[in-house]
Amino acid sequence: MTDTSLSNAGPLKGRAFWFVNELVNLMAILPVMLSLPDLSGFRLNRRRAFKTYSIQPGKILPVCALLASFVLGIIIGGPGAPVFSIPALLWCALSYDIFITSVLTLFYSGWVLISMSMGYLPISIVNMNSRPMLLSIRTGVSLLTMAPLTVACVMAAREELLRQLKYIAEHDQLTSLLNRRAFNERASSKLCALAEQRRPVAVLMLDIDKFKDVNDTYGHAGGDRVLVAFARIASAGLREVDTLGRIGGEEFAAILPGCSRKDAEMIAERIRSKLASTPIAIGDDQQIKVTVSIGISLIHQAVPDIEALLLIADKALYRAKENGRNRVETDDLDDIKNKMIRFQPN
Ligand code: GH3
Ligand code: MG
Ligand code: MG
Repeated sequence: MTDTSLSNAGPLKGRAFWFVNELVNLMAILPVMLSLPDLSGFRLNRRRAFKTYSIQPGKILPVCALLASFVLGIIIGGPGAPVFSIPALLWCALSYDIFITSVLTLFYSGWVLISMSMGYLPISIVNMNSRPMLLSIRTGVSLLTMAPLTVACVMAAREELLRQLKYIAEHDQLTSLLNRRAFNERASSKLCALAEQRRPVAVLMLDIDKFKDVNDTYGHAGGDRVLVAFARIASAGLREVDTLGRIGGEEFAAILPGCSRKDAEMIAERIRSKLASTPIAIGDDQQIKVTVSIGISLIHQAVPDIEALLLIADKALYRAKENGRNRVETDDLDDIKNKMIRFQPN
């Protein structure tokens, strides 16, 4: 935009003009720079980055609405034309993250300022290129950009809050493992997929031995430290595809997809022996060793019923306790079924 009277402007007016120019830059360009996504992990996690910014058909509607509002502004014109884009910009702010919204807002303010000065946006105001008019338009556009940016920030804060709430609702506060409800949900969806693929699955029930004695001897805080240490050891002993949850006080459960009996027993044994040989610091320079009993239920073709598999694993766990604790017992559902068929009366 040009202003022929700029050169003979007084110092105060010149400063005001400079301030408004800076305001436009600040409101339009700075948010884009501040919200630039961190691309340092882009190479490592390309798939995730592409997923974040991939184009989904439904997701381009707000941008289409923004472009349509630009066209509408050119066709209808008048002083209200720059405001036509506000609903579309707010829709963009509700649909995209802060970075994309900032880019679109920059695009919007650039479009308004350039198209007005080039005459594409017929706003029908006499003496458009006068200094007060320029100041007014630039200030107006830069303040308008605050609306979508504010909405985008509120949305980002809301999403972060929802993410935190979801985490709290799904995780046990002490061990950070999945709680019973979340474990059952994840396990159920895993079992459904495994049942469709006719793949085997193992479910583990893990119960710390004589835990009440730990509490009675070292206090509740000492017991809590044991629970945290056990959660760490059990997580480390499992594979990445396995899911572990805390389903009760000192009771844990895990689902091991595609696991043979040998693999499941090897993993359970790894956790059992690691815990038995690891001294756990429980404060006051004291260290104790605890043990765990593990029951395994195994099925060669998964069924989508986590409660049934947990029940069978619990029976195997009960046997492990009865047989002296600090041990692993397995119940193979196919063996149980075969025995039942063999002993069925004719
Ligand atoms: P067993 O070998 O038969 O499993 O005996 P146990 O003592 O481990 O079993 P029991 O079920 O009798 O005791 C479990 C104890 O776990 C009782 C309860 O006070 C304690 N407990 C439950 N939740 C927590 C917790 O969050 N922190 C602590 N420190 N203790 C807990
Ligand atoms: Mg116990
Ligand atoms: Mg118990």
